[in-house]
Amino acid sequence: MSIKQTIETLREELRVHNHNYYVLDNAMISDFDFDMRLKELQVLEEKHPEFYDATSPTLRVGGAVTKNFDTIVHEHRMYSLENSYSKEDLDDWEKRIQKNLGDVPLEFTCELKYDGASISLTYENGQLVKAVTRGDGYQGDEVTTNIKTIKSVPLKLKGDYPPKFDIRGEIILPFEGFAQMNKERVENGEDPYMNPRNTASGSLKLQDSALVAQRPLDCLLYSIVGSKLNIESQFEVLEKARQWGFKVPTIAKLCKTTDEVMEFVAHWDVHRHDLPYETDGVVIKVNNLQHQEELGYTSKSPRWAMAYKFKAEQVTTVLNEITYQVGRTGAITPVANLEAVLLAGTTVKRASLHNADQIEKLDIREGDTVFVEKGGEIIPKIIAVDFDKRAVDSQPTNYITHCPECETELVRTDGDAKHFCTNFYGCPPQITGRIQHFISRKAMDIEGLGGETVELLFKEGLIKNYADLFTLTKEQLMPLERMAEKSAENLVSGVKKSTEIPFERVLFALGIRFVGETVAKKLAKAYKNIDTLMVATEEELVAVDEIGERIAKSVLEFFQNEKNVEAVNRLKSYEVQFSLSEEQLENQTDKLKGQTFVVSGVFEKVSRTELKKLIEDNGGKVASSISSKTTYVVAGDKMGPSKRTKAESLNVSIITEDDFLIMI
Ligand code: AMP
Ligand code: ZN
Repeated sequence: MSIKQTIETLREELRVHNHNYYVLDNAMISDFDFDMRLKELQVLEEKHPEFYDATSPTLRVGGAVTKNFDTIVHEHRMYSLENSYSKEDLDDWEKRIQKNLGDVPLEFTCELKYDGASISLTYENGQLVKAVTRGDGYQGDEVTTNIKTIKSVPLKLKGDYPPKFDIRGEIILPFEGFAQMNKERVENGEDPYMNPRNTASGSLKLQDSALVAQRPLDCLLYSIVGSKLNIESQFEVLEKARQWGFKVPTIAKLCKTTDEVMEFVAHWDVHRHDLPYETDGVVIKVNNLQHQEELGYTSKSPRWAMAYKFKAEQVTTVLNEITYQVGRTGAITPVANLEAVLLAGTTVKRASLHNADQIEKLDIREGDTVFVEKGGEIIPKIIAVDFDKRAVDSQPTNYITHCPECETELVRTDGDAKHFCTNFYGCPPQITGRIQHFISRKAMDIEGLGGETVELLFKEGLIKNYADLFTLTKEQLMPLERMAEKSAENLVSGVKKSTEIPFERVLFALGIRFVGETVAKKLAKAYKNIDTLMVATEEELVAVDEIGERIAKSVLEFFQNEKNVEAVNRLKSYEVQFSLSEEQLENQTDKLKGQTFVVSGVFEKVSRTELKKLIEDNGGKVASSISSKTTYVVAGDKMGPSKRTKAESLNVSIITEDDFLIMI
């Protein structure tokens, strides 16, 4: 087989697996095998840029950056939907249609109304060429690069698709992935996102597509527009789209009467809570496309479609007590402890109150009867107080001024929504929280040790910080409750084994605020070992690509604290990895030492991420904006004109991707 054939076979094979996994939810090979094949393809494509293909599965990992999203006028306007709330509304609608069309038999397709961000995808000759947000309905932002990273969006279609058409759908973030993202944010000391819909919609406008690729976004399709489509009904639209490789939920149903429509609505009003993603109603469409055309549009919405909104599930209950949780970074989260109540199929006892402002804004007090709602959020929220039911002697909530765990006075700095307990080293939940973070899977991944055991060890006085883990002995552990000889041995050997964890993960494990996994990698790469990092100045830190002032300050602060330095030194003495390995260093040269690069535009042979990695691996620095300190600007396709002007005015050399590759 020629190289070209090998590449094409691999691409096709990966396409099929992508479709099986992300669209049909039916994996046919292991993740490992998939990754191996993807790697194989990546290597081949890198060696043979002449076989570039804009629909290659390797493009799913993202990397290209969009600084300004182009505004694109929709060829076919994206309309809103009219809302209905009762069977009467639907009957009226049916009458209007019947009057309009005359006495023809009608059929309706009922689909769920997915709650996300609408998108319009343009396909030409079976290839995705454009993805545009809804915007104001007439024009939206072109977000193609980001959309390409969503694995369920086919880059290349199969079957007998029309040569050109637009297909519309909703970009959503399923609950599970949303919860996981929030868990990681909280672990990194960041505020969690409020709900999946806004997060999905925000994701589309991220500049770095590699970040979009990391988000578990999904795309559900529901309509096709274009000419000469050779399709007769909405139901057929759904079937066809599915055949061409799109993800189209099979929940849709054909109904002949509004009674049947109401049955569908009633069923999904309850069962939507079993779905993995948020829906906010049902969309009912006249099935026959010919009829749709005859009915046409009002100034805002199609006459042939109607949304039936689900009632947001809401209940009232009594707020018994407001308590306060302390996270590992010291952030305080107020929690409403409620009289248990059934909401959307689950018993709810607690709701997050977010922060002091939220409590003040809604004037929430202990003893109040409150309205609790489950929207897109996993944790229910209090949306209002029922003031009619407020007791006459009710007192406004005084937000705590001192830490509920260690009594340290709380502080709240400008820009922070939350209050913080700054007793980093004495506040028990912060201490255990930090150790729990240290041992977690993405950090030191210590086998045989879990969060509860950490709390037990702390309570028993065996550990006060993560360095203490390395001094634990079997003899110390055995007397503890539920600690058999075997588990004590496992714990000790698990700790020992963690000394093999590479530097970048150790850096993440230290729990420096705002230093998440990605930032830890950047810092490890830029500084190569902890000693150089520990003496870095704020100026030097912000010069590292993607390290902003907030992160730089946090890193400085961390190492200014003697306790942290001591913990690091102890960890070093236990042989924890505090520098990049030989192998990691081997791939690096200092050919570009002392040179600063700015990367701009879209590249052909290597992705932006790879380009930046090549610069850093060869000792160069990547900066995000052009200044007098910039040595070269590596310019790809579509480099921003303002960047070009700036580079020219500062006399900075602009080089191409090829020039750069020759340099190294
Ligand atoms: P609204 O924004 O409330 O006027 O609702 C219209 C939006 O509902 C459309 O722009 C679509 O993005 C969205 N939508 C979600 N699911 C569907 C569906 N199955 N059919 C049509 N539109 C849908
Ligand atoms: Zn405290």
